[in-house]
Amino acid sequence: MKREKIKDILAAGKVGDSVLVKGWVRAFRSNRFIQVNDGSTIKNIQAVVDFENFDEALLKRVSTAAAVAVSGEIVESQGAGQSIEIKVSEVEILGDANPDDVQKTVMQPKKHSLEFLREQAHLRFRTNTFGAVFRIRHAVAFAINKFFNDRGFYYLHTPIITGSDAEGAGEIFQVTNLDPLNLPIAEDGSIDYKQDFFGKPVNLTVSGQLEAELGAMALGQVYTFGPTFRAENSNTSRHLAEFWMVEPEVAFNDLKDNMDLTEDFLKYLSNYVLTNCADDLQFLNDREVNEQKSKPQKDRSELTLKERLEFVVNNEFKRLTYTEAIQVLRNSKPFKKKKFQYDVEWGIDLQSEHERYLVEKEFKCPVILTDYPAGIKAFYMRQNDDGKTVAAMDVLFPGIGEIVGGSQREERLDVLKSKMADFNIPEEDLAWYLDTRKFGTAPHAGFGLGFERMIMFVTGMTNIRDVIPFPRTPQNAEF
Ligand code: ATP
Ligand code: MN
Repeated sequence: MKREKIKDILAAGKVGDSVLVKGWVRAFRSNRFIQVNDGSTIKNIQAVVDFENFDEALLKRVSTAAAVAVSGEIVESQGAGQSIEIKVSEVEILGDANPDDVQKTVMQPKKHSLEFLREQAHLRFRTNTFGAVFRIRHAVAFAINKFFNDRGFYYLHTPIITGSDAEGAGEIFQVTNLDPLNLPIAEDGSIDYKQDFFGKPVNLTVSGQLEAELGAMALGQVYTFGPTFRAENSNTSRHLAEFWMVEPEVAFNDLKDNMDLTEDFLKYLSNYVLTNCADDLQFLNDREVNEQKSKPQKDRSELTLKERLEFVVNNEFKRLTYTEAIQVLRNSKPFKKKKFQYDVEWGIDLQSEHERYLVEKEFKCPVILTDYPAGIKAFYMRQNDDGKTVAAMDVLFPGIGEIVGGSQREERLDVLKSKMADFNIPEEDLAWYLDTRKFGTAPHAGFGLGFERMIMFVTGMTNIRDVIPFPRTPQNAEF
């Protein structure tokens, strides 16, 4: 008999059908009811054994976490909680789970902290919470490709090893095959990178944008979606050292077009999860509602997870300039009462506390801030006519803070060159990039969405480590 997936049986199985199911035991109660899960859905199927017909030694091995194959007939369920179940004729143990090991790890006791689960890499996947998170993560990855494909974008694979530090932030991981204990030294005493693998220092990419711009200036609309690395030594709940970024880049788009694209995109992804991940979303929604009960009133979110997604789908994002936002912040209660940890004045880089005030207290909706001071943004952002600001945009989300950063790019060669000089970026280093401004330059714009920050938003998980299968953070690259 061919194995069937539990999701398909629960959706379309008919009483009287013979089925074979393979999965892992979630629970075995009263020597009679086996709850089996195979990962195809958050739901288990109930397999009922008549213990008199089975070998006692065999049933003993049907323990939590064991891998089993069960076959039998679909019957109407007598119990509450499911409409059909399997009346088992055969049980096969595919892989035992030692009850002592199980006891010590994730399967027992019932409730575990997310922190504890991070140390149980393989069993973490077996929990309802992480099953739901990773099924949704997959769905969003698919939706991203679908969104762009449906709109005529090309998926461009930009390099992981690169010679450029796009953001100029310097938070890079160097890649080398030189022996650190035996570095070749040049005549002037510096490390002789000519002898390194690529003949020069290279690093893991911090963004695929500069390369994507080259694609956009020929293919029109492209996007990248790949791993991104930042050696930021900030142990926050919103930063990973290895994360995934989605970066569309569109020829002939200006900042307004860029904002429209971002807003459509984030609405599309939120709606995709609402329509296509109903069971997993409901589980995470209820989980959060339960968790909130143990929190003080002031720390509870006003909307449930599902309501937050619906809110994003159905409401316009608030758009305002950085300069206006500074005004709003300086007129705010926390500013006047000196409740902000960091000062607010024109020219500062907004801190997370300021972003969250704007999103969660002032506007109570997603916010797009535009036209930031040139000095706090990357060199490639287009200079505005005021000479002080650039055509940048950051999208701020409730509970997350910055989820998207983007801009209209500087397409004027002379302005770009003088900007690079201001930022001390040697022209030779980016000659290949400057070439796009010499051969039919054109206005263009794009943005970067932190994939894991989006997954945090659509799952309600509050630590970014809990939305990626194998998190990499300072001092932590286990598994
Ligand atoms: P932040 O101020 O939050 O550090 P950033 O300004 O460094 O963000 P960008 O360089 O604009 O971020 O990158 C684009 C997007 O990538 C961000 O909006 C965010 O969603 C995501 N992102 C940036 N750094 C990280 C990180 N270390 N881990 C996960 N996502 C990140
Ligand atoms: Mn950063």
